[in-house]
Amino acid sequence: MTDTIEVNALHKRYGRNIALHELDLHVHAGTVFGLIGPNGAGKTTTLRTLVDVIRPSSGTVRVLGEEPRHGGAALRRRIGYVPGELHLEGRASGHRLLTFYAEVSGSNGASTSVLRTARDLADRLGVDLDRPVRTLSKGNKQKVGLIQAFMHRPELLILDEPTSGLDPLVQREFLSMVREARDAGQTVLLSSHVLSEIQQTADEVAVLSAGRIVAEGDVASLRLGSVRRVRVRIGGTDAAAARAAFDRISGVEALDVVDHGEGVQLSTTIEGAIDPFVKALAQYEVQDLTVEEPDLEESVLRLYGDRGRPADASAPPRTVDAPRERRRQAGASAAGGGVDDQTEAPRTRRSNRGRRN
Ligand code: ATP
Repeated sequence: MTDTIEVNALHKRYGRNIALHELDLHVHAGTVFGLIGPNGAGKTTTLRTLVDVIRPSSGTVRVLGEEPRHGGAALRRRIGYVPGELHLEGRASGHRLLTFYAEVSGSNGASTSVLRTARDLADRLGVDLDRPVRTLSKGNKQKVGLIQAFMHRPELLILDEPTSGLDPLVQREFLSMVREARDAGQTVLLSSHVLSEIQQTADEVAVLSAGRIVAEGDVASLRLGSVRRVRVRIGGTDAAAARAAFDRISGVEALDVVDHGEGVQLSTTIEGAIDPFVKALAQYEVQDLTVEEPDLEESVLRLYGDRGRPADASAPPRTVDAPRERRRQAGASAAGGGVDDQTEAPRTRRSNRGRRN
């Protein structure tokens, strides 16, 4: 059986900057696939290529069995897409905007059930669809973006950093929506730089760093979650004694200990099992304890070393000029059709003629 997404040797170059290096990616039907990577890794570039907002420099891409550039409106109707940077500035209410999308993505009969689903999703996510979208907060605009992607129950959902701006409770609701979509047979590809949300939903994961996939597999096998940052305040000891006690515990790295009132403040990174550290901690009065996942860049570099570093060290870091980037997106997304990064009022969208990179 063919995969829902088949990407082979996808290469994308922006001038001298190579955003994607011969990328291979295969997403099986009916699964949730997580694309994770630090800022600038190439997640957005990959996803935009799948919806034909941008075009590859070389390589092949097939989505739902078709090439995005030839799939046209029929292919776009089968996909729900949430762009990484969602701009909702029109005077239209959320309801009007979603009605427009329902109309362009199906028949009138279908629109009724699509709009019913939209209302249900709005209730679940807690967003008022009667307000003009431009007056909504960033998080509430994001909810409207999610609703437009999910409401027509597309075969494939492509979601670029979908939880950005959402509060933790709404994030949880969103993750349930993703699981329900999978249970209903839909395929989901989502990008994130937050490991925990990928851990909670994805069947398979690819770790992207500097335009290359540095690791791929199920979440557990990637061991990314095995790196944690710990901060703890303990009483009844001093910095020298605490350092001597914790420095020799397996997995403890970059240990920092400072005297703090009646005890010490200790921060460290732990790779692998946390149990020896917790057992050692139990000897003390624990006044405070925080365990966090480190940022993804740190995890990727720690676990995948050079493979996680930019291959072309001479390549400039992220050098996108913001106004130029906005103009580029406006052109590209209008050309991409379907759901775009610049969701203006329907009238504006229809008159746009964009260009591609
Ligand atoms: P983030 O998490 O920050 O959104 P990302 O993983 O989505 O990052 P991309 O936005 O795909 O990464 O960027 C990948 C690389 O391509 C970066 O080096 C970026 O600077 C570069 N890039 C993206 N768009 C352009 C552009 N229009 N012109 C030049 N370089 C670009």
